[in-house]
Amino acid sequence: MTTENKENLKKLAAALLPEATLSIEEIVETYPPRKLSKDAIVTRIAPSPTGFMHIGGIYAALIPERLGHQSGGVFYLRIEDTDKKREVEGATELIVNSLKAFNIKPDEGQIGSNREIGDYGPYKQSERKLIYQAFVKKLIEDGDAYPAFETIDELGKITEQQTAEKIAPGYYDKWATWRHKTTEDAFAALEKGLTPVIRLKSTGDLQKFILIEDLFKGKLRLPENNQDIVILKSDGLPTYHFAHLIDDHFMGTTHVIRGDEWLASLALHVQLFRKMNWELPKYGHIAPIQKLDGTSRRKLSKRHDPEANVAFYEAAGYPAEVVIMYLLNLANSGFEKWLNENPNEKLENYKLSIEELKKGSGALLDLVKMDSFGKEYIGRLSAENMAALALRWAKKYDDELAGLMEYDMNYTIQILNIERENVKARKDISKWSDVRSQIGFFFDSLFTKQGINMDELAGCDLKSVKEVAAMVAEKYNPTADKEAWLQNMREISVELGYAPDAKTFKQEPEKYKGNFGDMAKIVRVLLVGKNQSPDLYEVMQVLGAEKVNHRLTSNIWSAKK
Ligand code: GLU
Repeated sequence: MTTENKENLKKLAAALLPEATLSIEEIVETYPPRKLSKDAIVTRIAPSPTGFMHIGGIYAALIPERLGHQSGGVFYLRIEDTDKKREVEGATELIVNSLKAFNIKPDEGQIGSNREIGDYGPYKQSERKLIYQAFVKKLIEDGDAYPAFETIDELGKITEQQTAEKIAPGYYDKWATWRHKTTEDAFAALEKGLTPVIRLKSTGDLQKFILIEDLFKGKLRLPENNQDIVILKSDGLPTYHFAHLIDDHFMGTTHVIRGDEWLASLALHVQLFRKMNWELPKYGHIAPIQKLDGTSRRKLSKRHDPEANVAFYEAAGYPAEVVIMYLLNLANSGFEKWLNENPNEKLENYKLSIEELKKGSGALLDLVKMDSFGKEYIGRLSAENMAALALRWAKKYDDELAGLMEYDMNYTIQILNIERENVKARKDISKWSDVRSQIGFFFDSLFTKQGINMDELAGCDLKSVKEVAAMVAEKYNPTADKEAWLQNMREISVELGYAPDAKTFKQEPEKYKGNFGDMAKIVRVLLVGKNQSPDLYEVMQVLGAEKVNHRLTSNIWSAKK
């Protein structure tokens, strides 16, 4: 349709897009260039509202958010809802709330399902339909785009034939049937009631290459695009490619940071910007988060991996800061060193390095590492803070625990305070779902439910266990300080035939039933249910004399023969 006269093309454009009345001048005026310093980066996160928030989506938001904000620039949220078939109700709120939960704050864009802030909106693509159409109309008028009326079946047949001929599939050259038709043909098809898509007339040549420097992947050499891609679908909304072109241009994006599934379309996007004569933004393609499956790596899958869903981290009780620390560390391996040197700094103050991001290729999800960030982070919280946060989590995910914690918050705080103020604070909790297994035994009902693992005392005969329990119960003095308590425990051990310490035992093992540690183990297992707990003195202090006495003499275990 290139050779058509301007008048015919104009008429066709008007017939195809009767709603497109917005003028290009008006649009240009609505979106003046941003007034920012030369080095300021304007970037964005542009998710589609599909109703699923992938942890990779948070990762892909965190990187532009950091780069934008640390440069004194702008980070905004754009909702890409042009694929109406994939849209799910409530999905925009899910995106907004997930970003909020991880403290990723866009300066502009959607802040609720129908609320937004910022001067470069609307930030929801479906509300920008007339803006896209204005440019599509212009491209048709200029002979750079044309309507194509093939049905899905007809397109399928073209692909079949191309496959049979072993040539590249797609809509190009002679296969681009409608490229070679006249405006008359188009009017005739419209007359028949057919609805077309609009395709861009490609000027690319597969034998030629574009050179481009990706922010993270470095220099790339990509073959030009030779396909006449669809820019406007039959429902009047643009495809991603075209919407990205218009939005990132008018919203003043300087850096397009996105998943590397878009790398394959980069040559096309460069072609689009060149066609419009607009300045090309910088592109940075992020490798997806991967998972180790046996010995091979694969992309974290929404369908198969529960940990792909951000809801997984909330339910497990990872504090949002911990997830962010983990993701920052995936992005920049130098982050952990910075965190160790600046444990009390706000995470926002970490300066993400593009150079370091370049080194990463397919970050690997490692929950053990996330746990270790969790232990450090929670280890630095005060007991009061920890109790409040753990309770908030438990109220949503563990009612029974929440009830017990809340019933006596002072007791809960005391429990969580054990070994907290030591030089090396206690680090046995990496996420709130660990709280039940780590401190549940302090609550009688959970202690009874969990029971005592008597296998832990396999080496001791029941008679000795009973003797130890009875004597400790009788002689335990809750007002004694740690030293006096230790002294008392040693005396008991000697009285019952245990060596007062490991050294004495080693010298003459045949003289003793065991050493002091063996006796302490009995006390610990009976009080806690297992042979692992924070400092025994502190545990007994917090449990209090009544619980200590009751557990040591309890018939849960003492009735055993
Ligand atoms: N809507 C696209 C996606 O969700 C956005 C890609 C981009 O950031 O440009 O993958």
